[in-house]
Amino acid sequence: MLKKLFKSFRSPLKRAARPRSTPEILGPHQHSLQRGQFSRNAVSVVDRLQKAGYQAYLVGGCVRDMLLGIQPKDFDVATSATPEQVRAEFRNARVIGRRFKLAHVHFGREIIEVATFRSNHPQGDEEEDSHLSSRNESGRILRDNVYGSQEDDAQRRDFTINALYFDVSGERILDYAHGVHDIRNRLIRLIGDPEQRYLEDPVRMLRAVRFAAKLDFDIEKHSAAPIRRLAPMLHDIPAARLFDEVLKLFLAGYAEYTFELLVEYDLFAPLFPASAKALAQNPEYTGKLIRQALANTDERIALGKPVTPAFLFAALLWPALPARAALLQARGMPPIPAMQEAAHDLISEQCKRIAVPKRFTLPIREIWDMQERLPRRQGKRADLLLENPRFRAGYDFLLLREEAGEQTGGLGDWWTDYQDASDSERRAMIRDLSSRPDEGGDAPARKRRRGGRNRKRGPRSDAPAGE
Ligand code: ATP
Ligand code: MG
Repeated sequence: MLKKLFKSFRSPLKRAARPRSTPEILGPHQHSLQRGQFSRNAVSVVDRLQKAGYQAYLVGGCVRDMLLGIQPKDFDVATSATPEQVRAEFRNARVIGRRFKLAHVHFGREIIEVATFRSNHPQGDEEEDSHLSSRNESGRILRDNVYGSQEDDAQRRDFTINALYFDVSGERILDYAHGVHDIRNRLIRLIGDPEQRYLEDPVRMLRAVRFAAKLDFDIEKHSAAPIRRLAPMLHDIPAARLFDEVLKLFLAGYAEYTFELLVEYDLFAPLFPASAKALAQNPEYTGKLIRQALANTDERIALGKPVTPAFLFAALLWPALPARAALLQARGMPPIPAMQEAAHDLISEQCKRIAVPKRFTLPIREIWDMQERLPRRQGKRADLLLENPRFRAGYDFLLLREEAGEQTGGLGDWWTDYQDASDSERRAMIRDLSSRPDEGGDAPARKRRRGGRNRKRGPRSDAPAGE
């Protein structure tokens, strides 16, 4: 298929991704892209900027994805106009960002991101103006607002396959870094020296893995080599940026494979330290639960169903709960408060690494709390639970735990049947529970007290408590 996409174009085989100062130009007969295939709004932004006398191109992911026959998720424009100049051209434009200033042009729900050509300026540059650009002592770029030429702009982009520019008026592709060659060979390759590029921005390691998973490309060996060693650099990335990146990693429809790659490249531990520990201590259960949650997420995305980050985080962190709760219990805390406190501590520690907003941390707690309530079905409890807005997520989470091998005494099946049952069948199911008081901790409160405190089970060593 790729052969067809590129028609007669042949690029020389070169290993180093050294950008050239003049691009390889592919004319309209050497590739399959046409302006009509791109978002009308994005094309109109480019046309208007060109009419106003600026250079403007479609760039990055949309050109890459179109060449691969994938529908792009958004359309980015690169231009010689500054963000303020872009704003002056479009009434519907807003200037955003600090670390990286750009203009957003709004068309209803579609936003076209318009970035000004930037330059990659060397470390220790005497001329460096700290208002526009700055780096920390390891070379990480803190601010990146020095504008430059199109060649400069190509050079400061991350991967060769992301440095392709599509000129909508001439339907030409401008290739500064052998990106077309790497698309053909299905390779993720950093532009320039890989180590330096990761030090400038460690998030590029996550991006390498994300694109490898999404496109089913390999990470070229020189670009792959430093990742494991530099993975701890992710600790320096602001937690809010990592939250955005983690959503991109796990909500793009390739989460299960992305997770494999994150683990393979030692990138999972700096993102989810407690979960990585649980994975090392109990690989089978933890791996199964996380993989299953991610596979379900991928499936829902493929079917166009909504997914909530809360469910995903609840699953990623759940295997780390028992060890924490056990620790608190060993200090004399009863099982239920120990679980509660472990949950609270785990989430707040995770938030230091990845800033999960409150609108997701609250539902995580609710999904976990539900795991403790689902076994208690006596009297009106089952019906009250069914009405709980968090029931569905809690029930799905229970099924996930069972799929990962947790023993719940058939609780998932019971709830599946209960939802389908008629009123009278439901009453019978509840009556039936009282004749099996030992199952699932669902005896009425009074009876339970007589049974003594030690009826409440603490967390098992292989799976979190909460039944
Ligand atoms: P997708 O939108 O499918 O996730 P994309 O390649 O468009 O992929 P964006 O995050 O939208 O990714 O970024 C747009 C372009 O900006 C990229 O293609 C790349 O050229 C450049 N870019 C983005 N992030 C970085 C980075 N951290 N370092 C260097 N260049 C980057
Ligand atoms: Mg994009």
